[in-house]
Amino acid sequence: MKQSDNIHGGGTRRLVLVVEDNDINRHILCSLLETEFDVIQAKNGEEGFRLLEEHYRELAIILLDLFMPVCDGFDFMRRKRLDKRYDTVPVFVVTTSEELSDEILCLELGANDFVVKPYNFEIMMNRIHNMIKLRESAALVNQLAVDAVTGLHCKEFFGRTVEDVFAANADASFDMVCSDIANFKLLNDRYGERNCDRLLHDLATALKEAMPDCIAAGRTGGDTFAFLIEHRERGWENVLVSAVAKLPYANLDVRFGIVEDVDHSMTASQICYRAMSTIDTVRDLHGNVVAYYDNDTHQRQLMEQAIRENMKTALEEFQFSVFYQPKYDVRAEKTGGAEALVRWFHPTLGSISPGLFISVFERNGFITELDMFVWEEACREVKRCIELGLPVLPISVNASRLDFDVPDLPDRLAELADKHGVDHSLLHVELTETAYTDNPEAVTRTLYRLREMGFSTELDDFGAGYSSLVSLNTLPLDVMKLDMSMVQQATRLNDFRIVESTIRLAQTLGLKTVIEGVETADESERVRAIGCDYIQGYYYSRPLSRDDFEQYLKREQEKHS
Ligand code: C2E
Ligand code: CA
Ligand code: CA
Repeated sequence: MKQSDNIHGGGTRRLVLVVEDNDINRHILCSLLETEFDVIQAKNGEEGFRLLEEHYRELAIILLDLFMPVCDGFDFMRRKRLDKRYDTVPVFVVTTSEELSDEILCLELGANDFVVKPYNFEIMMNRIHNMIKLRESAALVNQLAVDAVTGLHCKEFFGRTVEDVFAANADASFDMVCSDIANFKLLNDRYGERNCDRLLHDLATALKEAMPDCIAAGRTGGDTFAFLIEHRERGWENVLVSAVAKLPYANLDVRFGIVEDVDHSMTASQICYRAMSTIDTVRDLHGNVVAYYDNDTHQRQLMEQAIRENMKTALEEFQFSVFYQPKYDVRAEKTGGAEALVRWFHPTLGSISPGLFISVFERNGFITELDMFVWEEACREVKRCIELGLPVLPISVNASRLDFDVPDLPDRLAELADKHGVDHSLLHVELTETAYTDNPEAVTRTLYRLREMGFSTELDDFGAGYSSLVSLNTLPLDVMKLDMSMVQQATRLNDFRIVESTIRLAQTLGLKTVIEGVETADESERVRAIGCDYIQGYYYSRPLSRDDFEQYLKREQEKHS
């Protein structure tokens, strides 16, 4: 894995690949070459290419015949040219063709030399040696492509090294650590260039020491470095901060951006770009900071996959549970209901947010099954409250867009309620506006049925961006819930006029109102003054587990008795 493993040491025998279909010719050539080289051989271009793929890092030269069955010499060179990694291996064409056009084509395709059979073996050996020497000294120059100030590799060389490492270790997982000095320009002005060069050198050295197993290290910009390391679990990164702290430069402020498990198809500069963009997100902070780049889409895809793979078992094994978030009744000055919110506690993945899994289930249809479970849990909970002599409050359940495609949704809900002896008026159905816009006729029909059967209907997330006033007018609704973004924005702007006019609108239409996402006393005051009916938010209560909810109801009962 280390770069140095691939550099031909002075005394070692070089590896030569001979690609030639004629058995006798190949045999003669190989025996001659074996006096000085290690030789591997292939009967045609196809086989030769496989050996090239496998050995390109060690190969010193390829001796290539032009005319062969299955992938001839020309094709071989065409394919070789497509992969930059193979550029370092020179090709020596050995052929019987005396056609000038063949020779020209070979050189065009990237052959480095050309010899026509029968050849003078001694002259050919000399030419092979010269070519290898030329290549190796070029490689050596590259190898020495080191930045004089820091001792790290220069940007281009670093990029090529990273590429090579990825190509040779397809299954390995690497992290890229990038560093950036805050306000380096100011330091340059203050301390002068010479001193800053020393600083860069000392920092590079300290960081390399802090990552002794670093596979490649480069100076990617004036004051930015990059280090490729084998993937590590988070938590090690403090060594970077302490390495900087130990340096004798006051106020040296270095930020680190780390891209984990980098995508091998990306170039070093693309990866570094990601790392640097992460550093930008912590620029406002002071001191030395380490930030991880979250490979968002990749991580999300993995998470979604895990969600899909685990959902069925999760439901069977009762990993889902229902939490209840109390709703405060402003006029009665006590809790007037609760919303049932599903939670997923996975034994190894931990707690998974509905924000993650609901959308996945809405895409694969599993949401209807889950919602049915939540509704039944809500019914059970109401029944428990009755049995325990606790205050019996209406519970709102969420209904997803897909639930409205189930033709007998109202009957199913009624069945659940009846099974647990729960009065229909104690169940409210919340539907999001997106559900309506997708399928207005079916939704309207279903809502009418639900109401006929005694369930309350609530429009959720009003004002979240999809709202249409039309829906307010045409849907059979009892309650309108203002999306929490409305309160958040009002607080930010210190202007509750939009909240107020929305409430007035709902009142005009004869709807009760719930304001969601109320987190502070000030927000609560202001929305109460406006005259909404219910308030739901962290200020009153977070969503509570069943046990906590029952405790909460007990306290509520004691307070009001
Ligand atoms: P929602 O229906 O709008 O539910 C309200 C969300 O706001 C809940 O997030 C709740 O925990 C959160 N919340 C409540 N008060 C506050 C507050 O004061 N501040 C802030 N920042 N947040 C507050 P949760 O439980 O993560 O649910 C997210 C969404 O997932 C829900 O949004 C709902 O659309 C969906 N969801 C949750 N449970 C179910 C379910 O059983 N079925 C369906 N179909 N969707 C569900
Ligand atoms: Ca809701
Ligand atoms: Ca909502």
